[in-house]
Amino acid sequence: MFEHLEKYAGDPIFRLGDEFHQDPRERKVNLTVGLYYDDAGRIPLLRSVQQAEARLGGELRPRPYLPIEGLPAYRSAVQELVFGAGSEAVRAGRVATIQSVGGTGALKVGADFLHAAYPDSHIWISDPGWDNHHAIFQGAGIATHTYAYYDSQGQSLRFERMLEDLRALPRHSFVLLHPCCHNPTGADLSREQWQALIPVLAAGELIPFMDMAYQGFGRGLDEDAGPVRAMADAGLTFLAANSFSKNLSFYAERCGGLSVVCGSADEAERVQGQLKAIVRRIYSNPPMHGGQVTALVMSDPELRALWEDEVAEMRARIAAVRRQAREQLEARLPGYDAGYLTEQQGMFSYTGLSAAQLHALRAEHGVYIIDSGRISVPGLNTRNIDYFTEAMAAVLRG
Ligand code: PLP
Repeated sequence: MFEHLEKYAGDPIFRLGDEFHQDPRERKVNLTVGLYYDDAGRIPLLRSVQQAEARLGGELRPRPYLPIEGLPAYRSAVQELVFGAGSEAVRAGRVATIQSVGGTGALKVGADFLHAAYPDSHIWISDPGWDNHHAIFQGAGIATHTYAYYDSQGQSLRFERMLEDLRALPRHSFVLLHPCCHNPTGADLSREQWQALIPVLAAGELIPFMDMAYQGFGRGLDEDAGPVRAMADAGLTFLAANSFSKNLSFYAERCGGLSVVCGSADEAERVQGQLKAIVRRIYSNPPMHGGQVTALVMSDPELRALWEDEVAEMRARIAAVRRQAREQLEARLPGYDAGYLTEQQGMFSYTGLSAAQLHALRAEHGVYIIDSGRISVPGLNTRNIDYFTEAMAAVLRG
């Protein structure tokens, strides 16, 4: 009955990760998947999470269904984290928010919502971008296109071209944007560039979808959400997805949020209802454990302060690794400009390495980097950074 179906080739990033695990070499280095590892190469179990789980685990509780839109405390925490404590839009009741199944779940619900509201609209995604954005929106019946974003040879943003591309879009087009820690390049718009972009989005009556999967990994929890808040302050109607996968090291718990900033409280109420209707027909309601832990960490002052310190620690480690990798590469390769490593921020860096160089790194040195040349920086640590920079220098020397 299903013999006609194509075989799924697997996700290219996870496939390369599998190849890495099968590689018998002891000195191998995995820079493929977007997971945060500590300096010991472990995925951290945050102390704030452990303490929240200990408190909640003290009593065994029944497990009824959660509300379709998620826990009220969780949804308030999402609004506060994404839009800020003093947000006018939140206070005015103009923001509809649901607890989502990770950041991916937020994108999926948002995609279904947009397609139902504007069935003829298409979405524009950065070039280069995250492949799964194309898959998620196409899966929801939305055609995907790209706008210019980054020149990987020149290692620079193509901001003027980006503006030109967006100015040419039909009204009510959707535009996928990364407020911070752009995946895959690590290159973000400056505050001034956001200030220039927002009026272009408004003038074109475009509908932005801000995907914030790495809040806190760039410059800070508040700073990273700055573009989302600037957009809300400018009175735009837009969607914002956020994820606790990385900043709470909570990958498998699937905790995220989808918020839609509307023009009025009445509109937000309609939107909230439509989001619920979409969730009801996809997975009905979100899981409880991760939601309760997240809500507790975000709302308890002591746990919140501890979590913010832990996020700062992760952010500082990434920045330190970037500096160290840059220094080592420039020392090993006089004349080579590795400035991109410290100019880019968040988990990812775009190396600009060619396919042949990436292949040589894998085959000759056991250094695994995905085909776009993107490295996941927290895969580096005090034990493997020298080896990595030496391997990269060897490949760059040719
Ligand atoms: N958006 C971007 C840009 C991502 O890089 C990721 C995760 O890698 C996500 C969304 C999805 O996050 P989650 O793991 O919470 O589904």
